Amino acid sequence: MDGTIFNVQHFCVNDGPGIRTTVFFKGCPLRCAWCHNPESHKIQRELMYDAERCVGCARCVSLCPKGAHRIENGTHIFDRSLCGVCGECVYACLSDALEIAGERRSVDEIMSEVRKDAIFYRNSGGGMTLSGGEPLMQSEFAIALLSLARAEGIHTAVETCAYASEETILSVAKHTDLFLFDWKCTNEALHLKYTGVDNKEIRRNILAVDAMGVKSILRCPIIPGVNDTEEHFKGIGALAARLKNLLRIEIEPYHSLGVHKYGRLDRADDTREFGIPDAEQTEGWIARIRAYTDLEVRLA
Ligand code: SF4
Ligand code: SF4
Repeated sequence: MDGTIFNVQHFCVNDGPGIRTTVFFKGCPLRCAWCHNPESHKIQRELMYDAERCVGCARCVSLCPKGAHRIENGTHIFDRSLCGVCGECVYACLSDALEIAGERRSVDEIMSEVRKDAIFYRNSGGGMTLSGGEPLMQSEFAIALLSLARAEGIHTAVETCAYASEETILSVAKHTDLFLFDWKCTNEALHLKYTGVDNKEIRRNILAVDAMGVKSILRCPIIPGVNDTEEHFKGIGALAARLKNLLRIEIEPYHSLGVHKYGRLDRADDTREFGIPDAEQTEGWIARIRAYTDLEVRLA
């Protein structure tokens, strides 16, 4: 079985316990205004073009079978509407201005990468994490990876926005040791405004997985001016109180590191920037959430 992913990252220490290999799935049903991985949004492969790296050498022009590259008045022009994402131009470009986001990989190919670090998982209590994008959008592929990993004694974690049918998430949960649930916004109207979907289904799914007895961590992106509100901090505590298998709450303060990638995908119009919190602000958020829960609250 094949799936579309955009990265396999080794030696991750923030995607669950211990040292982990994280597989990033391509495709996401949400469009969070603060997302720093826009290349994860579409499930289809895409060509990313970095105009700042382009030196106008024209090597890509003659290679492209679709005529998507041209030079006009000494300037390189890329016409995305013509691109068939064959990847030929990527190999021609010596300036690393071109990159394909997304590749089809088989379960066997990914598992052979995951197995390479088995000794580190054993020594650190780590394992494999599926992230994204959204792993639940390719649930059959996710289940194939998770069930194989488990059969080999590898700890399995899934980082998810939990926006899927209940049937889908529960079928994935049967093969998952730990969920990292993104809980983005307690206020339903704000959740819809800033992510494009409402949060009722998400809350229902988190509760349903918890009822199965699967352990979880709540991961809460905190965005200044969006969800750094008492309503949300109280809501995080209220949701945590309903989860019997919740280990802790982690917060992810907003950062703008991925903003440049929107331009490389011709989606600069979607770019939204928020204030970057400092350490004092972040500590303040943690303290305010702690007022509503006895569980551990910490930075992700
Ligand atoms: S990926 Fe293929 S079709 Fe797209 S611009 Fe490059 S060579 Fe042309
Ligand atoms: S090959 Fe790379 S550097 Fe040369 S024109 Fe094409 S994109 Fe620019």
